[in-house]
Amino acid sequence: MPNRQETNPIDPTDRRSFLKKVAAGVISTSVLLVYRPQSSASSDANSVFPLPDRQARKPVGHDYAYVIRIDRCNGSGKCVQACSAENNVPKGLFRTWVERYVKSDEGVYVDSPNGGMNGFAEVEAKIKDQVLSAWFAPKMCNQCHNPPCVQVCPVGATFATEEGFVLVDDKHCIGCASCVQGCPYGARFMNPDTNVADKCTWCYHRVKRGQQPACVEVCPTGARLFGDLNDPKSEVAKIFKKNEWLVLKPDMHTESYCFYVGLPREVV
Ligand code: SF4
Repeated sequence: MPNRQETNPIDPTDRRSFLKKVAAGVISTSVLLVYRPQSSASSDANSVFPLPDRQARKPVGHDYAYVIRIDRCNGSGKCVQACSAENNVPKGLFRTWVERYVKSDEGVYVDSPNGGMNGFAEVEAKIKDQVLSAWFAPKMCNQCHNPPCVQVCPVGATFATEEGFVLVDDKHCIGCASCVQGCPYGARFMNPDTNVADKCTWCYHRVKRGQQPACVEVCPTGARLFGDLNDPKSEVAKIFKKNEWLVLKPDMHTESYCFYVGLPREVV
C-alpha cells in the first residue's frame, strides 16, 4: 500500500499565496486542504442519484473498487507515467490522466497537458492573481457496474467480470469504436498499434498476481487507493463505509466503482 502523508492545517491568512502555488503547479498535498468542497452539494448529489447498491449486487469473492483522494493529489503525473510504461500506452494517448482545475473570478480553468504526465506549468499570468481555489483530479475508466460500453458493443468484446473489472477481449474486438463513443467519461480510445479499443483495466494482470495497479503503487501521496470492498480491513472498504465519497456523473446511472473523496462539484 502507498505511504500516507499526514497533512497540516493551513493558516487562512496565507490562503492566497498558497493558491498561487497551486496554480503554479508546485503544490504540496497540504496546500490542497485550502479547498473544501461544499458538503451540501455532496450529500445532495448522493441523495438524488442512485449509487452502487452492494446489497442488490450481492458480490461474491472479491469486489474491487478504486478510491481517489482529491485532497492528496499533488499533480506529479507519476501515475500517468507508470501507467504508460506498464501498459505500453501509445504516445499521446492515456489510460489514466490528471486534470488541473483552477477556479478564479473568470470561471474554472481546466487543463491536462500531455495527460498531466510531466506535471503542470504555471497558469496564465492574467488569472494567476485571481485564483480562488485549485485542485487536481485524476481520471480513468470507472469500471462501471452498469457499463454503457458493454451495452453498446455489438460483438460482446467488452465485458464485465464478477470481481468488478470491465475488460476488452482484443481477439473479438472489431474496432468499430462504438464503446469509445458510448463511454460518458471519455475513458476509451482506439489503440493505433492494435486497432482495437483500449482503456484502463485497473491493471487486471497485476491484481491477478496479487499486486496493486501501477498508478496506485507509484503515487507519492496515497491519493490513489485500490482494494477489495469485501475485505473490511482494506482502506477502500473503510472509506466506502463512511459514505463520504462521490462518483463522477452520477446522473448517468453507470454505477461507477471509482469513488472520489473531496470531489468538488466543478469536476465533470
Ligand atoms: Fe465503460 Fe467508460 Fe464505464 Fe469504463 S468508464 S466501464 S469504459 S463506460
